Amino acid sequence: MDITIIGGGIAGLALAHELAPDHAVTVLESSPGPHGGGFMIDFFGPGFVAAERMGIIEELRSRGHAFEGVRYGTPDGAETGRLDVGPLVEAAGGRYFSILRPEVELGLLAVLPPSVDLRYSARVTAVHDPAFAGTAGSGRATVELADGTTLDSDLIVACDGVRSVARELVSPGHGPIVPMGYRAASYLFDDPELAAELGERMLMTDTVGRVGWAYAADDSRVGVMLAERVRAAGTARPVPDRERLQRDFAGLHPQVDRALNHAPESFYDDLVAQAVAPRWSRGRVVLAGDAAHAPSLLAGQGTSVAIAGAEALARSLRATGPYLEAGLAEYERRWRPTAEKVQRSGRRSAAFFTPSCPAQLRLQQIGRRAIGLPGVSRLVTRSFIAA
Ligand SMILES: Cc1cc2nc3c(=O)[nH]c(=O)nc-3n(C[C@H](O)[C@H](O)[C@H](O)COP(=O)(O)OP(=O)(O)OC[C@H]3O[C@@H](n4cnc5c(N)ncnc54)[C@H](O)[C@@H]3O)c2cc1C
Repeated sequence: MDITIIGGGIAGLALAHELAPDHAVTVLESSPGPHGGGFMIDFFGPGFVAAERMGIIEELRSRGHAFEGVRYGTPDGAETGRLDVGPLVEAAGGRYFSILRPEVELGLLAVLPPSVDLRYSARVTAVHDPAFAGTAGSGRATVELADGTTLDSDLIVACDGVRSVARELVSPGHGPIVPMGYRAASYLFDDPELAAELGERMLMTDTVGRVGWAYAADDSRVGVMLAERVRAAGTARPVPDRERLQRDFAGLHPQVDRALNHAPESFYDDLVAQAVAPRWSRGRVVLAGDAAHAPSLLAGQGTSVAIAGAEALARSLRATGPYLEAGLAEYERRWRPTAEKVQRSGRRSAAFFTPSCPAQLRLQQIGRRAIGLPGVSRLVTRSFIAA
């Protein structure tokens, strides 16, 4: 088949890797090149297992990082606790590492088969399929690009993230994102001195309403993520504003203040949101990754499930051969239960992602101390891995 993938992010590249041996694959990516920005993610769960099956786990692992754990800090710079990552790695049977989102993208690009036609600066503006007009038939599906050209295919896979252009068409009434009550920003910058100070532990601030993370991405670069509670009104993507960021997140911790001094003009900044779609395909158009089932950063597994979902789609298409409709139905049957489980875990985390008041902060601090107790640690990590 001729297959067009919209979006050369995590799901799009993983899917192209899997489909390339059997199909003519074109990837249309709106950005001018690989994305440089992004945050440190924990890579475990279904994506890890899928990456093993895909034969790419060593490529990803070689780009990853092993932190010792997290260190909690208050605005005066005092340390209020630590959590070790060891029990988590153990509970995952060693299938766990941290990796920068851009490194996942670069890793997938490094193993991308040369037959894949990957086009950057190719923004899709519209998707058409005979099924959208209610005319079932064998006509091909079409994408329109911002430069005015069009492309026909036997199958279009929308891997264009949580704000997918295709979701409303495939699953009417479900185009908009579902905000989770938070807004998050992240960026990377060079500061070897701060990287050395942060060492092998991530810093997480012990603060109310707003939270900051800072970590050494490598010997010279530092990554930061800043999140705040927001009222869930509207779904429009916020415009990154360096001055606002510096003003609103000042005073969480001295090391976060230093990180704020490095805030660039442009950075990742979005509402923390899920995508919900009761159906993932219609006619010759199918959704994958965040476009289908974004769990939000609250679930801590967006990248993992994006890879696993893409691999599940490729396996289903392989299994059903020329029977496209059956392949798309098999993909949902095989993958929806896991994707929805991860989304539920993201929704459960929403209430305590950042404490809403000093009493809740205190409760979390007490809870952290309990996690340090033998037995409790094992229980908590197992339930985290299973979520
Ligand atoms: C630069 C960047 C930084 C991110 N940083 C964070 C973060 O700090 N915290 C967090 O929780 N999540 C972040 N995310 C989202 C996270 O990476 C995804 O949840 C996860 O990787 C799922 O992968 P995906 O491939 O489904 O979606 P994404 O990784 O979002 O990839 C979607 C891709 O589609 C492309 N695209 C979008 N619309 C179109 C279009 N119309 N035509 C062509 N291409 C299109 C995008 O440029 C992108 O490359 C970030 C995403 C990006 C792109």
